[in-house]
Amino acid sequence: MLQLRKITKEYKTKQKTKVQALTDINYEFKEKGFYAILGKSGSGKTTLLNIIAGLDKPTSGEVIFEGQAFSSFKGKDFDAYRNTCVGFVFQEFNLLENLNVYKNVSLALELQGRKATEAEIIEVLRKVGIEDLIYRNIYELSGGQKQRVAIARALIKKPRIIIADEPTGSLDQEIAVEIFEILKELSKEYLVILVTHNEEYAETYAEQILHLAEGRQKEEVSLEEIEEENRVELEYKKSLSIFASLKMGFTNLRINVVRLVICIILSTISFSCFGFCITVSSYSEREIALNSIVVDDYINPNVIANWDVGENGRNSLPITKEKLQKINNDLQKNYKGISQVYAKSCFLKSVFEHNNDQLSLINPCGGLEVNEEYLTKLGFSLYGNFPQVEDEIIITEYYYHTFTRLGYKEDSIEIPQEKITKDILLGKPIYLSGFKSENPKKFKICGIIDTGFDVKQYDALSRYDVNSKTYAHDFNLVQQYKNASYHSLVYLKEGALKACFEHYDETNGYTYIIDEMPKNKEKVAEIYDYLNDISSLNNRYVFCTQLIPNINDLIVKLKLYQFVSGILGGIASIFSVCLLYSLLSFTIENKKKEMGVLRALGAKARTIFVMFSSEGIYVNFVSLILAYLGSSLIVLYFNHFLKYQNGIRVEIYHFNVVQYLILLGVAIAVTILAIAVPVIKVVRKSPAEAIRMEIK
Ligand code: ADP
Ligand code: MG
Repeated sequence: MLQLRKITKEYKTKQKTKVQALTDINYEFKEKGFYAILGKSGSGKTTLLNIIAGLDKPTSGEVIFEGQAFSSFKGKDFDAYRNTCVGFVFQEFNLLENLNVYKNVSLALELQGRKATEAEIIEVLRKVGIEDLIYRNIYELSGGQKQRVAIARALIKKPRIIIADEPTGSLDQEIAVEIFEILKELSKEYLVILVTHNEEYAETYAEQILHLAEGRQKEEVSLEEIEEENRVELEYKKSLSIFASLKMGFTNLRINVVRLVICIILSTISFSCFGFCITVSSYSEREIALNSIVVDDYINPNVIANWDVGENGRNSLPITKEKLQKINNDLQKNYKGISQVYAKSCFLKSVFEHNNDQLSLINPCGGLEVNEEYLTKLGFSLYGNFPQVEDEIIITEYYYHTFTRLGYKEDSIEIPQEKITKDILLGKPIYLSGFKSENPKKFKICGIIDTGFDVKQYDALSRYDVNSKTYAHDFNLVQQYKNASYHSLVYLKEGALKACFEHYDETNGYTYIIDEMPKNKEKVAEIYDYLNDISSLNNRYVFCTQLIPNINDLIVKLKLYQFVSGILGGIASIFSVCLLYSLLSFTIENKKKEMGVLRALGAKARTIFVMFSSEGIYVNFVSLILAYLGSSLIVLYFNHFLKYQNGIRVEIYHFNVVQYLILLGVAIAVTILAIAVPVIKVVRKSPAEAIRMEIK
């Protein structure tokens, strides 16, 4: 059945010296029977056995199994051969210590993608006389019992050849005899090839003996010619499913828990760092602007300005009537122009006397000419009257509120804050001047409108320490009222500006334009994109959102963060590759023997690959899940930090689907990179080498 033809094996040691382990071995094994390979230690017995088992390849010569030469075998043929034809019994048992007898035996079948039935297992255990130990753990067994389990494990596959390498080397004499008896019994059904250095046993039990000395055989053997017709097809068994291999790798192989945990922690940190970095790298100015409108419930940024953002910083450019017309036509909106006016005295006096109080406006945002219909349409309720003549104005609740906090001072009239009521303010004078600083003109308050200003927010503000971050944050709330809303305007009769200010020049255009904000993000986005389209580099049309006062500073910062995080992200991903690589190299170094044993039991290279990757896959999987959490938290914290540092309410960064997917992709790439190299390095070695690793 099995012929060895002129087998020679030469090892190269690490020091590059050559060791001639076998020289010109010719031998023939029949279908059944008990064969012994006898020789002193170092005579080449294990080497020869490994070659017969397909675990190692001869340097020259040929092994012929059922008419087929090993030299014609490919990798999968060797797997099939080991899987179905050979049952291996080692001197050191090589059982998986943390599994019980049942599982150790069934493992041999599982590696072929098949589950053993209990009856099958009991049957093989009965053959070796230990059916009562079926659910014992391996560490609870004696050496002789362990070797019986190992023989049962070899038998469960129903192999044709049982190969045993000094199976009694670690056993007492009496026990050794029992094992020999079992093997002798089995040799009636199977071809048993046994390696031993014990001449007495060999002569007692074996029918044929191959004597080895220093790699040479003593007896002359002449081989029969092989007839090609006798060829037998190998059976290609399925291999363990990927999932089962992963599970088995993780539960059955020795794993150092402390190292695993440390690795998961470090890996989580580096993935989280990476997740954070890709988030910071992928901010969008547009999203920030739109979201800032959303967090404000679409209330405030209904004002559009046109800025020259040239080298001299930001200057307001007038929006001409034609431009306004065009914007209204294009957007199907009803924007109205706001002209800049300056308040004299009353606001200034009060504010300067309270010079810590930066919350109050020195100037209104501008003057808006309206008719009653327009105010009604906006839904603002009016206390008092609509302007009947050109020099009457309406102020807002926001100004009223300022007066209630700071009092009113104008001409010779002085009203302390506690006495301020709406009725008292009606009819009181306010001095305004137009854009080209004419002499201030006297106006009379004729009404107060409620623009929906949130007084409570403003109140909270006055309680903060002026130097605190919270103050800086909430101060911006006030800034936005100033820059971007109906709250901080004064309202005049139509045509009043021209009538009151000599140099009022409406052909120049307006400082801002204002309309109601659409109450939905897509509609806002349409306007935003439209403004972007009509903007050029130095001539930008922008929403006056709460971000506007410092958006340029903010963008500079964000760009810096983007740059730094790009570098950091790169480092983090390289770090995680190295980390995983070193974990796996280390683990695999410790598991080489198990790997060799599994190969000898018939596991395919792919199964081994997946099993030994399982730890790495597990580490990365757990780290990835934790990193999703970690990244979200860091992003959350960083947003929080930015909000207070910059006095904004909008979330700058978003860790969402795109980032999830990028992180997932990177984790997979890292896993493959880090796993593939060390595992492939070991899988490629011959199983024989791997098994020897620990035996020596
Ligand atoms: P035995 O099983 O009879 O004790 P081996 O087959 O293990 O002997 O070894 C035969 C010879 O080959 C010994 O001299 C041994 O040192 C050498 N040898 C075995 N494996 C290797 C190897 N991987 N590299 C170099 N030399 C080896
Ligand atoms: Mg040996």
